[in-house]
Amino acid sequence: MKALRYLAPNVAKTENIEEPLCGQDEALIRVHSAGICGTDLAIFVGKHPRAKAPLVMGHEFAGEIVEIKSSEIDSEVTVGDKVTVYPLLSCGHCWACKNGVSHVCRDLKLIGIDRDGAFAEYVNVPLDLILKFPEDLTYDQGALIEPLAVAVHAMEMAGEPDWQTAVVVGSGPIGLLVGLCLKHSGIETTIISDINAHRLKRAEKLGFHTFNSTEGNLVDLVNEVTHKEGADIVFECAGSSPAALQMCDLVRPRGKVIMVSVHKEPPPVDLRAISFKEITMVGTRVYTLSSYQKALQMIKDLPFDALISHKLDIGNAAEGFELMQKPEDVCKVIINIS
Ligand SMILES: [Zn+2]
Ligand SMILES: [Zn+2]
Repeated sequence: MKALRYLAPNVAKTENIEEPLCGQDEALIRVHSAGICGTDLAIFVGKHPRAKAPLVMGHEFAGEIVEIKSSEIDSEVTVGDKVTVYPLLSCGHCWACKNGVSHVCRDLKLIGIDRDGAFAEYVNVPLDLILKFPEDLTYDQGALIEPLAVAVHAMEMAGEPDWQTAVVVGSGPIGLLVGLCLKHSGIETTIISDINAHRLKRAEKLGFHTFNSTEGNLVDLVNEVTHKEGADIVFECAGSSPAALQMCDLVRPRGKVIMVSVHKEPPPVDLRAISFKEITMVGTRVYTLSSYQKALQMIKDLPFDALISHKLDIGNAAEGFELMQKPEDVCKVIINIS
């Protein structure tokens, strides 16, 4: 089968490799659509701490079940079903796993990072991770459920949305999806900032109030909009050091800062502001199964098309990594395999 594999830092190729076997209590999925994520880019450039070459990347995907090997007679899914996959593999016996928060398992692994994933014609996955999706959903929508689940989980971790003004720092796919979730919950004003004018144009088209941080100070704009009080809530989706340093200046006293991005190094943070304003900082990691299921229900209500900037065929899928490193209008890159 054709598969895009990570072979060495900055080397990924579409090759012909053996089809994976369907193991016991697994299903074999014929992949139709898979999204390239920032994490895949981190793997590609050789900066992911766990991923080892050769690896078929890809953890955001949708496809069709072609084979099932189940020890139970009544499996919830059947051959021919259109499905997506909750790609988290947790250990099952650490504190987190025993306390219903297995997404923060101390030994968390992912399909497409720690074992072969979905940038391929076929992928084998444990049966209990498969989620069926409605017939009227497209495979491309199915591939966007995973990043949407990140945003849905961030919203859940933020608590009851009783805020009026929200700031989203970073207008990549996750920042935009957080913005769309905020809109969906009826938040009055959402300001999305970035340093990339192309990305901001996309956010503007989606109806957000945007700000280019290379052209001024975001704090000034937030103060102007909020009568110098600060935003009720800030979602940090940029993963950059300047964004981390600024986030506490953007929020009002007793406001919340939600960490959505993963910082590669520990950035400087204004701890004094956290004390003086009694700011609540909330960390978030991937998603729970319930946020994933909620994302599956929500995806059809969102203008998901607006997030897909490029579609590539599996044959030239490696181009996706070049695209994502260009300062152009690149949002979600989808690999189609048919
Ligand atoms: Zn992802
Ligand atoms: Zn665990």
